[in-house]
Amino acid sequence: MATNTFTEEHELLRVSFRQFIEKEITPYVEEWEKNKICDRNTFRKMGEQGFFGVSFPTKYGGSGMDLWSAVVVTEELSHANISGLSMSFFAHTYLPLPLINALGTEEQKQNYLVPALAGQKIAALGITEPAAGSDVGGIKTTAKDMGDHYLVNGSKMFITNGTMANFIVLAVRTGEGHNLSLLLFDTVTPGFSAIPVHNKLGMHSSDTGQLFFENCKVPKSALIGKENAGFYYIMNNFQEERLIAAINGTATADWAMKKAKQYMKEREAFGKPISNFQVLRHKLAQMAIAVEACRSFSYRAVSEFIEKGNEASLTISMAKAFVGQESFKIIDEALQIHGGWGYMEDYGVARALRDMRLLSVGAGTTEIMHEIISKLIIDDVQYKRKLVNVR
Ligand SMILES: Cc1cc2nc3c(=O)[nH]c(=O)nc-3n(C[C@H](O)[C@H](O)[C@H](O)COP(=O)(O)OP(=O)(O)OC[C@H]3O[C@@H](n4cnc5c(N)ncnc54)[C@H](O)[C@@H]3O)c2cc1C
Repeated sequence: MATNTFTEEHELLRVSFRQFIEKEITPYVEEWEKNKICDRNTFRKMGEQGFFGVSFPTKYGGSGMDLWSAVVVTEELSHANISGLSMSFFAHTYLPLPLINALGTEEQKQNYLVPALAGQKIAALGITEPAAGSDVGGIKTTAKDMGDHYLVNGSKMFITNGTMANFIVLAVRTGEGHNLSLLLFDTVTPGFSAIPVHNKLGMHSSDTGQLFFENCKVPKSALIGKENAGFYYIMNNFQEERLIAAINGTATADWAMKKAKQYMKEREAFGKPISNFQVLRHKLAQMAIAVEACRSFSYRAVSEFIEKGNEASLTISMAKAFVGQESFKIIDEALQIHGGWGYMEDYGVARALRDMRLLSVGAGTTEIMHEIISKLIIDDVQYKRKLVNVR
């Protein structure tokens, strides 16, 4: 099995978080999936119990544990097969908050990081636009310098927590080319509106929004880090998001493989359990190998990230690309083993399949991962070191 560095503290966290999921999340999942949005109150409960802040500094309400604690939280949510809700939580915790933690002023941390970790404010990261996703440098939402404030105009697409968020770490254009900046945007700002995007393949219990900004006045104090450095901040921050995505995919595939194993023992065909058929036994063996490969790769990426920060980007990009594709194949095989029942909602495998299809698209598509990997291994290009490690 994959080696890891889980300590007793991590395992205690695992047990208490599992209990929390059983009590506060599992009973409501079907309702949230149907309503296509989760409950704001669940964010508050997560925050009160300290589950958002496991890997954040104690000074801001976190537990000050290492990134393996975030792995524990991600794995437990994934084992519960509630990827929609998990995505809302991850998009709150591991997308916008590391940027504030690493680059924010003390005032920004007190006003946004602290209430977000406590579950009192919901956060989102707004980069993608209707006409620019992979091409981050192509975003068109502008923040015009008006002296004492910025005037923001434009729109964002596919933003997780988009209609629920109290604030958004917003990518805006402040100059030509790659001159982007990040702003802390309060969603009560006049001129802002958001509509839900409901026609998704999966991840139904997560809130996805399209956002509109019309002459929104944003104070200069909302700038995160330096003006025009946003593109590099975003590129760096992707590393943690991709790690969490790889862990999520691995753990969901593990869950599906175990569901298939259980079903093989229960289901009979031709007068015997289907677990007697060698073709299915070997299929499950291959799925188990693939899960283990995903886990080993993801854990190695986590270790490297803890050790080397963004210099681990090659391994992280490889793990994200690998797990994105493998986890979907594993879950697809799990559905196959369930036969017609796999195609129904009853066993949860259908949900896992449609939810996990996102893994090869979100947080940087597989093609973009291949692009990064090829640049690193063929051209020996390293990301510019002016990039800041965002943790
Ligand atoms: C449910 C959901 C939630 C999301 N949540 C968020 C969020 O919270 N915040 C946020 O900012 N964004 C979010 N996104 C957006 C997501 O990150 C983008 O959809 C993703 O990055 C791809 O961008 P795109 O959709 O514009 O596709 P495009 O960039 O238009 O890509 C289209 C195709 O072209 C390929 N392609 C593009 N460029 C290249 C290249 N250079 N070489 C080879 N192939 C290329 C892509 O791989 C893809 O196959 C979310 C998306 C979804 C679906």
